Amino acid sequence: MTVHSPIYPGRSATPHVQFVGAGPGDPGLLTVAALRAIESAEVILHDRLVSDAILALAPARARLIAVGKEGFGPAIPQSRINDVLIIEALRGPGVVRLKAGDPGVFGRLDEETRALDAAGIDWSIVPGISAATAAAASLGQSLTRRGRNATMRIVSAQSADGLTDCDWADLARRGAVTAFYMGKRAAPHIQAQLLAAGADPDTPVDIVENASRPSERVVRTVLSSLADDLAAARMSGPAVILVGLVRADAPVLLETVR
Ligand code: SAH
Repeated sequence: MTVHSPIYPGRSATPHVQFVGAGPGDPGLLTVAALRAIESAEVILHDRLVSDAILALAPARARLIAVGKEGFGPAIPQSRINDVLIIEALRGPGVVRLKAGDPGVFGRLDEETRALDAAGIDWSIVPGISAATAAAASLGQSLTRRGRNATMRIVSAQSADGLTDCDWADLARRGAVTAFYMGKRAAPHIQAQLLAAGADPDTPVDIVENASRPSERVVRTVLSSLADDLAAARMSGPAVILVGLVRADAPVLLETVR
């Protein structure tokens, strides 16, 4: 097993790629390590979801290469992204692969680290704040709460072969909390599946678009109105759908026995 040092590598002479979490968009939510990596980068391969405010922190000399896809738009094939990463890493130091949120959450990280491993190129990861964390902060709510939920699911509403097939009965349980990523188009499916699995139609649903950005919008609704309210909001930015976050002022469902 190879353990890749998470320590900031600086300008090491050996080929190296830093996978860096850009967080949800507000530059204030970058980690210090992420900021250092961006500021010392020679080349930055970034997802389209990485905000302009963050790309503006790159030095003038750095080459910015947009890779990855936005929503259902045209995609650069993963194999091509892997190739560019390898070529750039072999060309010289300062290669940053900047990914929205946390690189390890629905970020196709493994495809890229595996390709680098196969090419004998070293890499490290700087984690970032994921969309669900940022969205909950914007709502002023916690993702877990004593007496409410000790577990939380992070679900991609879109998988390689279409809509996610998950354990809907489990997600429909009273008290369950789920963060659906990439869920805008699948919202009617999510709503139908959860209701069919017995979820309470009044389960709270919070949709946070552009979390942490100046354009942030929040739709607070309930499960039975999810699809209609989302359609009415005409969201064009990335959005995370949080299901089951009972309002902070609501009574706890279960009291924890101390
Ligand atoms: N690695 C990212 C997720 C990438 S998948 C992370 O950890 O956040 C892309 C999905 O992330 C989007 O479809 C959306 O569901 C969510 N997302 C990313 N940035 C967001 C933001 N600023 N606000 C709301 N949702 C966001």
